[in-house]
Amino acid sequence: MQAFLANDLQQVQIFTMSANQFLQTAKNIIQSAADEGAIDQPKATAYIKEILHIILFYGQINRPKVDPEEILQESNRELSARYPDVFEMCRTHIPRRPPFTVLLDMIVDIVGTRHEDNVLPRLLSTINDMEVPNGDTLCRNIFVSTVINLCYFNDELMGSRTPNYFGASVSCRGDRQRKIMIDILCCYTWHSDISWAVCVANQYDQNAFRFPPRVRSMAFNIFTRGQSTQANQRVENLLARFGDQQVPRFLQIARDVNDRKFGSLVPRAPCERCFEMFPNIQFYPFYQAAEHAHWEYGNCAECESLSQLLKSQDQIVTRLHRNQFPTGRDELINAKNTRLTQNLIWLEFSFMGVVPFEDNQL
Ligand SMILES: [Zn+2]
Repeated sequence: MQAFLANDLQQVQIFTMSANQFLQTAKNIIQSAADEGAIDQPKATAYIKEILHIILFYGQINRPKVDPEEILQESNRELSARYPDVFEMCRTHIPRRPPFTVLLDMIVDIVGTRHEDNVLPRLLSTINDMEVPNGDTLCRNIFVSTVINLCYFNDELMGSRTPNYFGASVSCRGDRQRKIMIDILCCYTWHSDISWAVCVANQYDQNAFRFPPRVRSMAFNIFTRGQSTQANQRVENLLARFGDQQVPRFLQIARDVNDRKFGSLVPRAPCERCFEMFPNIQFYPFYQAAEHAHWEYGNCAECESLSQLLKSQDQIVTRLHRNQFPTGRDELINAKNTRLTQNLIWLEFSFMGVVPFEDNQL
């Protein structure tokens, strides 16, 4: 029993350290961006309120439950006076997306471009500032995702390429809590075709639709500073396979980021779940059937970035080739909603709605 309590205590400590470090770093970045005029103040406030709400909500669905006053350290306490509505709503209203996804959108907004050479270094240097002490070392912040990806559509017929759309894997501790976040994304956040693809894959182990040709996706594992040697070694091994041949873009990106010490990225092939849901996407690196995915459909970074692509590019939505299934879309989504409600009840969360703050989503 005592060992169990000690483990709980350590988990809560990691949770609160991660929460404060995440909040403090996000606040610093957004405030200096607002001061420099890179982003307007209402938008900056909306981002901070959204991140604050999600982190406090995670405390409410954590086991043991962690209340806002236990989470926030001195440097973040002023937030309760400034945003009292967030402190109320974290007990009754669910967020729309994980905190890292908000941070990713915020970085894209601040840098003012969707080019990977601008977004990825900025994101990775932010992540470096979020690591938390663990004994003598620094370890990964639990709110930071392990995988990031980007996708775009290269319309060779029209000779045009869309901008990049970024996504991150779901960052959430605990199996039930992770299911809650995936269900929230499916029911309230993602483009309806992506939510449907996740539901169809769950129900039928099949893909709901096919994208038009030349939708491309690249994914990377995010390594911590302590893992940078290991990350560099992996990238070197991949580079060695190409010898004198031209190095593919996804490897150039990882090499550049790692060489310039912004952080550490290692290219990552899609998992079997993503390949099943989106079989005709051009994935970089290519799909390899070696790894067994033990996570849920919808957990991966690909869903978020593809959802953003569809929300922004109607020309792709109109070109999806959808398959037919015996169970209708509404029924599948309702089942997700039911599981969401049941899990919230199980964790004694008094669910009254989705957070109504003005958000910055596409
Ligand atoms: Zn996947």
